[in-house]
Amino acid sequence: MRYFFVDPSQIATSRAVIEGAEASHLKNVLRLTRGETVFLVDGSGFEYLALIDRLLPGRVELAITDRKPSAGIAPIRVHAAQGYLKDKKMDRVARQLAELGVARFIPLISERAVVRPASGPSSFRQERWRKISIEALKQCHRGDLMSIEDLIDFKSLLETGRRYDRCILFWEGGTHALTTQQPVGAAVEAQSVLVVLGPEGGFSDQEAAAAEAAGFWIAKLGPRILRAETAAVAACAIVQYLYGDLGPGQKSLDKECPTA
Ligand code: SAH
Repeated sequence: MRYFFVDPSQIATSRAVIEGAEASHLKNVLRLTRGETVFLVDGSGFEYLALIDRLLPGRVELAITDRKPSAGIAPIRVHAAQGYLKDKKMDRVARQLAELGVARFIPLISERAVVRPASGPSSFRQERWRKISIEALKQCHRGDLMSIEDLIDFKSLLETGRRYDRCILFWEGGTHALTTQQPVGAAVEAQSVLVVLGPEGGFSDQEAAAAEAAGFWIAKLGPRILRAETAAVAACAIVQYLYGDLGPGQKSLDKECPTA
């Protein structure tokens, strides 16, 4: 069945409205009609079964027939700070991390960043990544939307780290893989994990040392140097395996989506 994204403000107890691009996709591309059933997701942790009721210009009205917590929400908060990458690479990483259940995508400017967009909401690709986050939510049937944060610099990143149970900086110069630092059984206690990944040029020795001094774990992803996009996926998959819902120790989610 088809999934559509609906703004939470457009969902009432028994009615919902789909507008804009989603409405035209439903009508003009998929050619769904009155009486057909679809799933609605609003990014707040629930999904809704709904019957198409009225097809109007620019909007579709639906009758909600069922509501249940979405199964596709990670039981822990994994936030990923990604060193700013060139061209479309950031877009690709944002999409892949949204698929892996990352709750927050934080673009990071570090010492060796090749691209340095000016900070400020309109000056970089936040809007594009928000759209990607919605697309991934629909495609993965995930119930919460990956949020897109403002650009931060490395110093702010280290300060932000205090808010997490665990901060892990992936560095090819590290000596340990993630599992050797802490046994899996103990690792599942962490409720919030900050994953930090470098740009194409990687992190400097000074950055790695500063992160370690700030209490971040330094983790190595095997003996090969991975491309930044590969490393991001590998790192978040390993973290979701150890702490989240990809591994054998996964927790079932019978509570609402945890928020920061
Ligand atoms: N500085 C490197 C490449 C950096 S790769 C060079 O050019 O030689 C980009 C990012 O991917 C790194 O900053 C790191 O966060 C991650 N990464 C890639 N390979 C890794 C590995 N083997 N272990 C840990 N992190 C890795």
